Parts: sequence; structure tokens; C-alpha cells
Amino acid sequence: MTDMEPRRDEEFENFLQSWKIFSGDLSLVGAEDRLKPQDPFSPPDDAMDIDGEHTYHLTIMEGGKPEIIAKLKQIKVLALTCMDWRFANSYYDHIQEESARSQDEILFVGVGGGAVQLPEERQEALLNILGFISRNAPELEKVYLSGHTHRCGAVAHWLHAEKGELPKELGPQKGGVVEIEKMGDMLKAGTEKLKAVFRPEVLVESDLLSLDRIDERGRKTTITLNRLP
Ligand SMILES: [Zn+2]
Repeated sequence: MTDMEPRRDEEFENFLQSWKIFSGDLSLVGAEDRLKPQDPFSPPDDAMDIDGEHTYHLTIMEGGKPEIIAKLKQIKVLALTCMDWRFANSYYDHIQEESARSQDEILFVGVGGGAVQLPEERQEALLNILGFISRNAPELEKVYLSGHTHRCGAVAHWLHAEKGELPKELGPQKGGVVEIEKMGDMLKAGTEKLKAVFRPEVLVESDLLSLDRIDERGRKTTITLNRLP
């Protein structure tokens, strides 16, 4: 029995544990009751629930190790984005179109802030998560890291902004030049850190997402991607 005895897999335990830090992210934006748990192996679906309330696409990673490893083997594209409903669907559509990959080949992770993480323990957790994914996704070709303007609720929370307002550091106007510049800097910093976990041949893109238009009836938003150099 000794040879067959399963050893405690610290790497996988660590991976699962790292997700837990993000499980309460809806409280960052006061949306505890508006969760759309998102399986990272599926596209984000409708941006509103049946009552017309917007929901947030927080990734919940579930399943045992063999199942998760089997799915990771198939992925060619990985995206990390904010759970903000205004950006998730449109960004996914863009990625699918640009990469020309099927749903099984795209892993789409949504957490508060996306690639912009101010608390250090969250940066560490993301490094763990993306590192595990990277080591177990031999076919991975491309990574999309993103953050967004027009008030990221997570960033507003970390910078102690008033409800609905931009943090003072990000200027007076949502989507304005100061917010674009500062969020761009934060995304750049996040990208530099996260990039390190991927093999050199994996292409890492960094997108600052801006909001152009919200069509409430069509439940669609139009976004612009500002690709960071
Ligand atoms: Zn956000």
C-alpha cells in the first residue's frame, strides 16, 4: 500500500486555498446578494439576473484535482478580469473573436480588480493561482490581463472612496484622463508581477478597459480596449 498511498498535494492545496481570499469579493462593492458564480471554463452569461439586477461575475473554482488538471490541459488562452458586469461579457466576446478559440480553450477568471490588486496578500494569491495554471497548461499560448476605468469598485474600496465616487487619487471624472493614467499605472505594475509566472513563449497582453456605452435593454455594454505597450 505504501507506493500507492496518495501524498498530500501541497501545491494543489495551496492553489485551492488561494481562491478563498477572493470568495468574499462581492462585499467590496456592496453586492453580496448579486452573485453570478462564474465557472472559469465557461463564458460569462447574461449581465443581469431575471429581476433586471446586474450581477457580478466572480470566479468560483470547483472540482477535484484530476478534473481541473484535465481541463487546464486543454486551455490555450487565459484571461484575468474584474468581476464587474459592465466589462466581463464584452471582454470575453473580444477575446473569443481575437483568439479564434473555442470555449473549452479559454479560461476566464473574474475577481474584484482583475489584474489590479492593491493588497499584497491578494497579489500573492493571484501569483499562486496563475502559477499553478501556467504549470498545468502546456498548450497555453496567450494571456489577457486587464483592469478598467469608470470606477473599479474594488480599487475604490481599497482607496477608501465615498460610495459611488472615484477615489481622490483618480481625479474628478470617471473615465477621465487622470483615472486612465493612474489605473494604467496600476495595471502595468500588476502585469509586471504576474507576467513572471508564464513561460517566455506565452504572449501576455495587458488591456485597460473603458466603458463607452451601456444598453440596459439589450443588456449589452460597449467597451474600448486600451492595450498597454
Ligand atoms: Zn472593477
